[in-house]
Amino acid sequence: MTTIIAAQPALDRPRRRVGSTCNPPWCALVGAGPGDAELVTLKALRLMRRATLLLVDDLVSDAVLALALRGRRCPPRVVHVGKRGGCQSTPQAFILRLMVSEALAGERVVRIKGGDPFVFGRGGEEADALRRHGITVEVASGITAAVAASAALGVPLTHRDHAHGVMLVTGHPKPGAAALHWPTLAAAAAQGLTLVVYMGVAQLTTLQAGLLQGLPANTPAAVVQNASLPTQRSAVCTLDALAQTVCELGLGSPAVLVIGDVLAGLLALQAAPADEAGAQRAA
Ligand code: SAH
Repeated sequence: MTTIIAAQPALDRPRRRVGSTCNPPWCALVGAGPGDAELVTLKALRLMRRATLLLVDDLVSDAVLALALRGRRCPPRVVHVGKRGGCQSTPQAFILRLMVSEALAGERVVRIKGGDPFVFGRGGEEADALRRHGITVEVASGITAAVAASAALGVPLTHRDHAHGVMLVTGHPKPGAAALHWPTLAAAAAQGLTLVVYMGVAQLTTLQAGLLQGLPANTPAAVVQNASLPTQRSAVCTLDALAQTVCELGLGSPAVLVIGDVLAGLLALQAAPADEAGAQRAA
């Protein structure tokens, strides 16, 4: 989906004052999940359908947006405020100003974000800004990409035979923030923690080289693109082959990387000859 920077014209439209200025200013940060409309929670749906203004992230699928708008006799204004890494995007400061001013003007502002609003979603910055202006913030959790990728692979991230826990990290830290030290993360992963990297595809070569300093080359790894959507694609390989696999298959954003022994069974199944794999499945 392309990023649309169409916020300003939408704001110039005449206001339909549905929210009462007697009501305390309110805004909801809603997790839309990874894309499949069936993964939207009932709470998210209720809040989206209360909105008079929907601010929509570019990872929110068309199906989810259609669900939010379906049957609305008085449809909300919809403003696309995409923020896809590396692409042209609506500045975050603009989004914050918009949320605050519209909520203070009595609009029922609902910010719909892909996945969960508090997992790498800038929901924290937005909640802080809203609260600083006395605006009540309601949050609806969403299914985050790591969990959707786990379902896509059919592998639990915390399978107790292999992992004590899971680390969610970003491969794209805030500009100016210290870069992640991948060898240190690899050392933690080697203790039995599954590593899931969001926004990691663009840094994959660096990330892989760093992780290989603390994890064996044959550590199982996977990439899942568009988890939960009809366009979902995934690949399983060893850590030393991850960057090459992603490149060869032309996989790209939005995708998460999963690294750890929880994938060992899947990797073994893939490596097994077809008849053996069939026998394993039948067992
Ligand atoms: N709040 C979101 C994450 C936003 S950061 C969540 O909880 O999922 C954006 C990154 O999330 C993408 O670059 C990608 O790494 C990941 N992502 C989001 N949706 C995804 C999907 N359907 N499949 C795979 N990765 C996804």
